[in-house]
Amino acid sequence: MSYNPYDNVLATVEKAAELLGYAPEDYEAVKYPERELSVSVPVRMDDGGVRVFQGFRIQHSTVRGPAKGGIRYHQNVNKDEVKALAAWMTFKCAVVDIPYGGGKGGIVVDPSTLSIAELQRLTRRFTTMIAPIIGPDRDIPAPDVGTNAEVMGWVMDTYSMLNGHAIPAVVTGKPLQLGGSQGRGEATGRGVMLNTLYICEKLGIAIQNATVAVQGMGNVGSVSARLLYEQGAKVVAVSDVSGGIYKAEGLNIPAICQYLSKRGNLLSGYEEAGMTRINNEELLTSDVTVLIPAALENQIDAQNAGRIRAKVIVEGANGPTTIEADDILEKNGVVLVPDILANAGGVVVSYFEWVQNLQALEWEEQDVNDKLAKNMRKAFDSVYAIAEKKKTTLRMGAYLIALKRVVEATQFRGIWP
Ligand code: NAD
Repeated sequence: MSYNPYDNVLATVEKAAELLGYAPEDYEAVKYPERELSVSVPVRMDDGGVRVFQGFRIQHSTVRGPAKGGIRYHQNVNKDEVKALAAWMTFKCAVVDIPYGGGKGGIVVDPSTLSIAELQRLTRRFTTMIAPIIGPDRDIPAPDVGTNAEVMGWVMDTYSMLNGHAIPAVVTGKPLQLGGSQGRGEATGRGVMLNTLYICEKLGIAIQNATVAVQGMGNVGSVSARLLYEQGAKVVAVSDVSGGIYKAEGLNIPAICQYLSKRGNLLSGYEEAGMTRINNEELLTSDVTVLIPAALENQIDAQNAGRIRAKVIVEGANGPTTIEADDILEKNGVVLVPDILANAGGVVVSYFEWVQNLQALEWEEQDVNDKLAKNMRKAFDSVYAIAEKKKTTLRMGAYLIALKRVVEATQFRGIWP
C-alpha cells in the first residue's frame, strides 16, 4: 500500500488541534497508539499441514473507556492500516459520545480461501493469543471486513473457555443466541441511511428524488442500500470486489441482497433485466445524488476526486477518502459526511449490546433502533452546527468535537505518574 492511512489520521488530528488552539503537549499522546500487539498464529490446515498467519491487536486509546473496535480478515491487512483503524475508533466513539476508547485487530488472510473449520481454528488461536489484552473492561472486539457474527461467537466461546465461565461482554456483534443485540447486524447500515436522510434534509433534497451509488455490497453497503431503497431512494449502482452493475431506473436491491446472502455469491453472477456492468471507477464517478463508499480505505483519491459527480458522499467505510481528495471535493462543493460519524451506528449498537450483556438484559429491536436514531441525530446535529459555526467541513466538525472530548478526558485524568 503506497498511501499510509495513519498519515491521514495524523494530518486530520493536526488540523483539528490547530483549529481548537491546542498546544502540542495537549494532544501529543493522541498521536500514538497506547499498545500494539503482533502475533504469529499457527493453524493446522485441513490437509494436515501448518500455516502461520500474522495478526495484530492495537489499542489506540483507553482514555475515555475500554478500547473498542473490530477484527478484520483481509489479505492486505498491515500494521499501519490497523493503527489507523484503531485511531478512527477513538474519534468515532468520542463523536457519538459513548464511553469507549479505540482499538482494532486484523489477520493477514483471505478468509474465502479457508474452510469453515480452518477459519474457526484460526479465530480461536488468535483469540487465545490476544486474550491477555482483551476483556469486557479492557478491549472489546467486534466484526469488520471479512468477519461476521459467527466469528464473534467463536471469539466469545474461546475467551469464556479460557476463563472458565461465559463472558458474553468480551465481544459484540455476536449471534443473538449468545447475547448479541437485536438490530446489531443492521446497525452500521442503518446509521449510514439515517445520516443520508439528515444531510439530504439539510440540503433540501427529497430522498424520493435522490439517486444512490454504493461501493462494496458487504455488511455495511448492502444494508445501507436496502434501507435507502425502502426509504424511496433510487439505488442505481452497486459494486463488490467482482465489479459493479448500473441501471438508470433503479436496481432491485432486495433481490440483489437475497442473491448475495449465499456464501461465495458475488455480483458478477447476478443478472437483472436492463442492467449494465460497470467497473469500480465508473461506479465512483457515476452521476448520482449520493455516493456511499462502503468497501475499504483510500478509494477516493487525488486521481479520481475531481471526477466525482455525486453531490453528497456518505462514508460507510472507514477512511475511504484520502486527505488530498478531501481538499478537491471541498473545492468542488461536494458535501461529505465523514466515516467517524456516518458509520458510527455499528459501534453505538455494539455499546448497547455490551450494556445489555453487563446487565443481563435484552432490549427489543424497536427500542434499540429508537435509541440509535436518537444518538445519531444528536451527533449529526452537533457536527453540522460546529462545522457551520467554524465555516469548515463536516469531517473537521466531527474531529473538533471528538478531539476536544479525548483531550479534555486526558487532561482530567492527568499524565501519571
Ligand atoms: P464486508 O467484508 O462485509 O464487505 C466488504 C465489501 O466490500 C464486500 O462486498 C467486498 O466484495 C467489497 N469490496 C472489497 N474490495 C472492493 C473494491 N475494490 N471495490 C468494490 N468493492 C470491494 O465488510 P463490512 O463489514 O461491510 O465493512 C466495509 C467497510 O465498513 C470497512 O471499511 C469497515 O471498516 C467499515 N465498517 C464496518 C462496520 C461493521 O459493523 N461491519 C462498522 C463501521 C465501519
